[in-house]
Amino acid sequence: MTEKKFAVINPCKICQPMGAIFALMGVKNSMPLIHGSHGCSTYMRFQLGRHFKEAVNVASSSMSEANAVLGGEENLKHAIRNVSKIYGPEIIGVTTSCLSETIGDDVEGIIRLFKTQNDDLPEIVPISTPSYKHTHVEGYDSTVKALVENLATPSKPNSKLNVITGMVSPGDIAETKRILREMGIESIILTDTSESMDAPFDGEVSFVSSAGTTVEELKDTANSFATISLCKHANSAAKFLHEAYGINSVSPYLPIGLQSTDEFMNELCKLTNKEIPEQITRERGKLIDAMIDAHQHNFGRKVAIYGDPDVVVGFTRFVLELGMIPSIVCTGSESKTFVEDIKAVTKDSKHKPVILAPGDLYDLHQEIKKSKVDLLIGNSYGSRIAGAENIPLIRMGFPIYDRVGAQRITSLGYTAGIRLVDTITNTILDRYFDEFGWALNENTEVDHGEFESSNCIN
Ligand code: SF4
Repeated sequence: MTEKKFAVINPCKICQPMGAIFALMGVKNSMPLIHGSHGCSTYMRFQLGRHFKEAVNVASSSMSEANAVLGGEENLKHAIRNVSKIYGPEIIGVTTSCLSETIGDDVEGIIRLFKTQNDDLPEIVPISTPSYKHTHVEGYDSTVKALVENLATPSKPNSKLNVITGMVSPGDIAETKRILREMGIESIILTDTSESMDAPFDGEVSFVSSAGTTVEELKDTANSFATISLCKHANSAAKFLHEAYGINSVSPYLPIGLQSTDEFMNELCKLTNKEIPEQITRERGKLIDAMIDAHQHNFGRKVAIYGDPDVVVGFTRFVLELGMIPSIVCTGSESKTFVEDIKAVTKDSKHKPVILAPGDLYDLHQEIKKSKVDLLIGNSYGSRIAGAENIPLIRMGFPIYDRVGAQRITSLGYTAGIRLVDTITNTILDRYFDEFGWALNENTEVDHGEFESSNCIN
C-alpha cells in the first residue's frame, strides 16, 4: 500500500452546512443563509443543484477579510434584512461556516437582539455548523434539531407521528409518506423535500422552497404522540422533543431491504396500534420473491459500500440478505454507532467486513486493491475507483452528479427493495455473465462456501 501522507485524501464526507441546507430545502418558504464568505454558498448551490437538478438558492452574509478581523455582525444583519425584503421567506435558517465559527461570532445573540429591535422579520433559526469538525450528516442533524428547538410549541395533542427522514432522496420521502398513508398514519415529515427538490415544471420561478414542511407543522411537532428517526445519525431532534415535551421516540435501522423494513413496519404498528395493510404485505412478498429469483446470480459476490453511515449500514444488511458479502464498508463520519451497527448486522456472517470509519476514498481504494470486490455501492465520488479497477458502481446516496434521476432513486421500503434487487442483479449479470447466462470474466473468486442460515429468507 502506498504510504498515506495527508490526513484525508478524497474525503467521503462534506462540510456541515451542506447537510444544513439539505434539511432547509425541505421547509416550505424557507431561505438558507450562510454566515460566511460567499464561496461557501456558491459551493452548496452548485453541489445541491447538480444532485437534485433543481434551482437551489442559498444566501450569504458575504464576509470579507475585514469581517474576519472585526466580526461579521453587521454583514449578518444586512443579509437578514435584504433576504427578508427581497425574497419574503417565512423562515430563514442561518447556518454558520468555518470563518464565522473560528472568529467566534455570537450568531444566536446577534439574531436574538436583532429580532427584538425589528418586529417585521420572519422566523429566524440560528444553526451552529462548524465545518472543521463532523460532516454534512451532523449538519443535517443539527438543523432539524434547531428547527424544533426554536419553533416547537406545545398546545393540544395532534395525533400525528413526527418522522425524521435523514438525508434521503425526495423519492424516498415520497415512498415513506405513501407507506404512512397506507397505514392510515398522519405525520409531520422532518424535513420534506419530496416536492421541493423533485418539483414539476410549471414555468414558475420560486426563490424560496416551493413546498415542504410548513412552519406551522414545525411548531406542531411538540404535540405529536411520537417521533421516529429513520437515521440513527439524525435523531437529535427526537431526543430534544423527548426531553422537552416527553414525546416517545424510536430510531430503528434505515428501512433498506427486508429485515430493516420489517422492523420499521413493526415500530409503526407498535407506535400506532395499527395493522399492516394487505397492500404492504403483498409488496413484502414480492420483495422476497425477487430475492429468491436473483439469489443464484448474487450469491457470494463481494461488495464495497461507502457513504453516509445509516445508508452504509442499511445496504450492508441488505446485501447480506441477498447472499452477497459486504467486504469493505466506509464512511467519512467518526461514529461509534456506525461501527457497532455494522458489527451487529454482520454478527452472524462468517465474513467480517473491513470497517473504515472515519475513512476516505483513498483508504477505500487501497482496500479494494488488496481484497478485490465485484461491486461498489455508493455516491458519485467513487466513480474514479470504479473506472480504475473496472468494477461496476451502483450509485446510491448523496451526492450523485454524474447521472440523472438522483431525486427519484428510492431505497426505502419493500417496493424500493424490489427495484434494488433488480438493479444489483442486472448489474452483476451485465458485468460477470455472458448472454447465455454463463459466468465469465470473474473479478473475484466467488465464495461458494457454507451458506449462512442467518442470511436466508425465512
Ligand atoms: S468547508 Fe468551510 S469554507 Fe469550505 S464550503 Fe464548507 S463552510 Fe465554506
